[in-house]
Amino acid sequence: MKSRWIMHVDMDAFFASVEQYRNHPELAGRPVCVGHDPKGGRGRGVVRAASYEARAKGIHAGMPVSQAYHLCPDAAFIPGEFESYSVASDEFMDILHEYADGGRVRRASIDEAYIEVTEGVEVFGGPRNLAAWIQDSIWHEANLPCSVGAAPNMSVAKVATGMNKPRGITIVGPEPSDIMKFLEPLPVTALNGIGRKTAERLEKFGITTLGQIQRMTISELWPALGRGSPWLFQRARGIDERPLIDNGPRVRKSMSKDRTFLEDVEPDAVDYIHEVLGGMCGKIGARLQKKALKFKTVTVKMRFSDYSTIQRSRSIPVETNNSDILHRLAVEIFDQREEREKSIRLVGVKVSGLSEASEQLCLTEYL
Ligand SMILES: [Mg+2]
Repeated sequence: MKSRWIMHVDMDAFFASVEQYRNHPELAGRPVCVGHDPKGGRGRGVVRAASYEARAKGIHAGMPVSQAYHLCPDAAFIPGEFESYSVASDEFMDILHEYADGGRVRRASIDEAYIEVTEGVEVFGGPRNLAAWIQDSIWHEANLPCSVGAAPNMSVAKVATGMNKPRGITIVGPEPSDIMKFLEPLPVTALNGIGRKTAERLEKFGITTLGQIQRMTISELWPALGRGSPWLFQRARGIDERPLIDNGPRVRKSMSKDRTFLEDVEPDAVDYIHEVLGGMCGKIGARLQKKALKFKTVTVKMRFSDYSTIQRSRSIPVETNNSDILHRLAVEIFDQREEREKSIRLVGVKVSGLSEASEQLCLTEYL
């Protein structure tokens, strides 16, 4: 029987790569951090993404920017613009669409997707040739580096991609015995779906590798994992029969902006926060109008000086993309916070429940 082939394509250091190779080509090959301004080491906030050159200096996503700055003062620190990541994502998804059997692309996140390529592999003379071809296309057409994993199913393809980053190609299979051998030495966390908590639970039972699970029965696994046992039993053996289902054209679900203050804002500086919210709502409103979208729900996020964070939402009966209405709602939500005596470290506004505004309405409303 002809083997099924699935490819998992994952952009390398996606946000940082968009900055390096698309937005600021002069930064190619340099350490780049997407995140807040480190302000000479006194800045607040965290690194959202780090290029491989920055990772080589010990910097990683989630690290405070002040620490990243001390590790590598020469790194380029860029605030980042989500819009450009979204555009880059659409571009490489379009390229994948060209190579996918039946044009079916399963987006797993903004920077990774699965495609079925059973037919494509035959046309291109094997999975490695096709993977290299796709990688080249994405590099030349979208200026983005990526890694590719190919295997007979989604679960194994995803593990394969992670083995060889950046700019890697990893082929596993098609024989079940090759797949078993590939998975055997890997830690349980290599599987998508095994998080830290599950890994800790398995470790209490002395289970750390997929090979150990391969040698167990479902009932032996049961005390450790209960109802998750049949799932893990199969995945550890590289069995995954899920069909690859296209998730349709991408629809934006939300848009947001937030701001971390250089110094915590005193609880009585309400006017200042209202003004900051106004600026953010203006930008969100402009973006919604440009994309001809309207929102139904507003969420305001507040983080206080003790790092506690709350989010409060409100939905409106009629969708709009009017910035003033958005600002008024955001202010109302903010003013109703119960934490009135706490200083404020961050505020953010998010709109969701987005729907397409009819073009006519847009023209009459905003011209
Ligand atoms: Mg990635």
